[in-house]
Amino acid sequence: MKKQITTKNPYTGKTLETYDYHTKKEIETILELSQSTFNSWSQTEIPERTKLLKNVANLLETNTLEYAQLMTAEMGKPISQSIAEIKKCATLCDFYITNADKFLSDQIIETEAHESFISYDPLGTILSIMPWNYPFWQVFRFAVPTLTAGNVGLLKHASNTTGTALAMEKLFIDAGYPKGCFQTILVNHDDIETVIAHDTVKAVTLTGSEKAGKSIAVLAAKNLKKTVLELGGNNACVVLDDANLDKYIDTMVSARMQNNGQSCIAAKRFIVTEKIYDTFLEQFTGKVKALKIGDPEKKDTYTSVMAREDLAEELENQVTKSLEKGAKVHYGNTRKGAAYQPTIITEVTPNMPIFDEETFGPVAAIIKAKDKKEALDLAKNSRFGLGTMIFTEDIKSIYHNISDIPDGALFINEMVKSDPRLPFGGTKASGYGRELSKEGILEFVNIKTVYIN
Ligand code: NDP
Repeated sequence: MKKQITTKNPYTGKTLETYDYHTKKEIETILELSQSTFNSWSQTEIPERTKLLKNVANLLETNTLEYAQLMTAEMGKPISQSIAEIKKCATLCDFYITNADKFLSDQIIETEAHESFISYDPLGTILSIMPWNYPFWQVFRFAVPTLTAGNVGLLKHASNTTGTALAMEKLFIDAGYPKGCFQTILVNHDDIETVIAHDTVKAVTLTGSEKAGKSIAVLAAKNLKKTVLELGGNNACVVLDDANLDKYIDTMVSARMQNNGQSCIAAKRFIVTEKIYDTFLEQFTGKVKALKIGDPEKKDTYTSVMAREDLAEELENQVTKSLEKGAKVHYGNTRKGAAYQPTIITEVTPNMPIFDEETFGPVAAIIKAKDKKEALDLAKNSRFGLGTMIFTEDIKSIYHNISDIPDGALFINEMVKSDPRLPFGGTKASGYGRELSKEGILEFVNIKTVYIN
């Protein structure tokens, strides 16, 4: 079993840092601090908590570049996108500063009682297991509502973004949070069960692969701990005959290629109806060819390396197997180490890996559909259920299709994106539970019925 974590810059290949895993004794100390901090933190008033959130937002603004550079070094995200990610975390703080009190206030329910209401009490320590693709945002959308509800958080971040994990722990301390409110634990997979089973830990949230989600859900179930799982997707981007390509083609390209294609809500399957197919492909290809590829630290770079070489290899395997089944390379498909060229694959059909599985990198799978009905049937033909996007000018007719889309989100003439004001989460193999908005902050509270006769 490995005793250390070594982080590596995926663009330069250079080693960044080496960290020791926490020992069993250190983990016990962290959990004890977590519990004792919860005992006092849970008693604080919401305005006291949101005041600290304001400090977090200020620190994000002051240190934007420092945090952005750290993410870029650890996982290769182009710097302009890293900066945007930090700014988005600040908007998340602002959202809960404004709304937490309203979301967490007692809700009066009229019954025969003298008084009856719902109160929302914090649960305790919530463990988060987070991925490397949005190293700040994924953690923030867990931590901000969870801490503001009066819980305390533990973070087991992806190993390759350990530096970012420690920077976030420091950020919360610098913002004035009590020391045990938000702690990073450096544990390998074998030690996670001890943490989940510990009495202090009341619930677990994981964002990552289906495989990781299943193993953590089993451990949590064994210990009767609640889970929220956000497990990626295989979103369809349906382009209908009447789509306005002039207006939306850039959105469609970003929907697949931003963050080097490593996003759970990315458009992975472009399902395009016959009459617009050739025009779509020509315009889409033109835009993909024009993407600026290169050094992630340069401001004008749009796509760069993937986060790890093994992830790029896995993507290449998925494409190769799909080509063996009849798909065609329309553009790109060269790989050098972790660098995967933005790629367009056509003649994709069900039962090919790039149709059936999540592709986590800059590969667009293009599928031709006869008409709207076939396009929507293909969109729904997925084990995943995170989101669907449809591009059409006939908004009126789309209302009839809303209840028919079995996903956690439906976006019309826009890419699927997360927004603090709207709930975020999936169905089917994309997991369960919701993050963000009111629904997100209520995932880790005791929804308590109070009845006074
Ligand atoms: P993983 O799902 O393996 O990693 C996500 C997080 O889960 C990391 O912190 C990882 O830790 C942790 N983890 C995984 N398995 C366990 C376990 N058994 N016990 C404890 N912690 C665990 O993602 P990968 O980085 O391996 O990426 C593989 C694929 O997963 C991608 O190609 C993509 O398809 C999908 N993915 C989806 C994401 C999303 O946003 N939905 C995000 C990232 C990946 P550690 O780093 O130490 O292994």
